[in-house]
Amino acid sequence: MFVSEILASKGSAVMTVAPHDSAAHAVDVMASRRIGAVLVLDVDGSVQGILSERDVVRALSMHGALALTLRVEALMTSDVIVCDPDDTIDQVMALMTTGRFRHVPVVRRGELRGLVSIGDVVKWRLEEVRHESEALRQYIVVGA
Ligand code: AMP
Repeated sequence: MFVSEILASKGSAVMTVAPHDSAAHAVDVMASRRIGAVLVLDVDGSVQGILSERDVVRALSMHGALALTLRVEALMTSDVIVCDPDDTIDQVMALMTTGRFRHVPVVRRGELRGLVSIGDVVKWRLEEVRHESEALRQYIVVGA
């Protein structure tokens, strides 16, 4: 299964903020959308970073409530690992496991196509396992 199949089902919408937005604004976006991360885009639409709830927790631990007044760019991860729509779900799982993160933006030729979360990956992997076991069951029944 491919990343493009996840995007075909969930759509390509990605919640974004700007580098100069406040952390408080990013937290509002995450809370109101019930998501764990926002992508940070520059005015030209290029990916500048990613800010997840973990970054906010880390900043709160370091700076207290003042953390919410800081700019997103001060808290975000700048070195963002991305995937391609033609990557397999197994490849994205490997990226998440190795990098210890739960969100991967989907980018092709510099253009943002969507974002895959660990929740999406687990859902699709479960579906795949269900199909495989059903196919095996049919194979055994037909072969018996
Ligand atoms: P997460 O597990 O996605 O909440 O993120 C854990 C940490 O990894 C946070 O510091 C994020 O900023 C960072 N992070 C999340 N996604 C990515 C990604 N695709 N590439 C690089 N860092 C990421």
